[in-house]
Amino acid sequence: MSAMPLPPIRDTQPRPVAPVEGLAPGTAQDWLGWAARELEAHSDSAQADAEVLLAALLQTPRSQLRGALEQPLSAALVLRYAAQVERRRQGEPVAYLSGRQGFWTLDLQVDNGVLIPRPDTETLVEWALQWARDLAAPRLLDLGTGSGAIALALADGLRQRTPAVWATDVSPAALRIARDNARELQLPVEFREGSWFEALESGVSPFDLIVSNPPYVAADDPHLPDLRYEPRLALTAGVDGLDAIRDILCDAATWLKPGGLLLLEHGCDQAAAVRALLNQTGFAGVQTRRDLGGRERVSGGLRP
Ligand code: GLN
Repeated sequence: MSAMPLPPIRDTQPRPVAPVEGLAPGTAQDWLGWAARELEAHSDSAQADAEVLLAALLQTPRSQLRGALEQPLSAALVLRYAAQVERRRQGEPVAYLSGRQGFWTLDLQVDNGVLIPRPDTETLVEWALQWARDLAAPRLLDLGTGSGAIALALADGLRQRTPAVWATDVSPAALRIARDNARELQLPVEFREGSWFEALESGVSPFDLIVSNPPYVAADDPHLPDLRYEPRLALTAGVDGLDAIRDILCDAATWLKPGGLLLLEHGCDQAAAVRALLNQTGFAGVQTRRDLGGRERVSGGLRP
């Protein structure tokens, strides 16, 4: 496995740095222990967080961190580590601090311009792959691709079927990350900038499969403060959280081949509403699948 690239230091603003007792010399192991203790009261994955942050700083895969723990940590690295630990203490997600997040079989670059890919979304990927596996040269579209997680997982999973994978996003910052990920993973995806289907030029052929993890959180959801580091654009969609899904449903049928499948991720309390919207829009065989936690998280239907 190649070394992870050093995450760019994006915070040019001074931020509070935890007291680092006179920068006493210490090994990476000492600082790892210190960081885990610092994070204990703030994260239920303190040890893992401390390891991921240190591994990213040392440009070492986390699985090989153990081999690097005997060496002393330079003052410059200690300062950077302490600053990251402090940001983690304040609640910033590890993925944004390390600049990486695992999703499906992929290791993705992320920054705060994209939603952090979540294991919940693997339910959608699994369903999409099962369905598309029988098609030769399937045409796939991921709407609101963010980091590119879903589009890239599908491109990777269907490699043998020579798929044509398209992905859109309204955010240029998100598309930059998605394109970087595609380049790093050497997976071909046609990226287009624009809102949902508006990003596609006329003349683009219809798709066998359209998928999306759109924003679906209600604008006044009490959990939003927990998601404050992530782009609001990727999270909220009107008073009931269903505005984006309604927008997608307006045009989805015209971009699907007859018999094509539409899959939408949604919140665990939105399944009945999304199934009703799919049925009203004329989709057939409407179904919902549950995530690993047993919650109804993805609904889909076929274009008759
Ligand atoms: N699943 C995310 C959350 O609630 C929301 C993602 C989304 O809106 N697409 O943490």
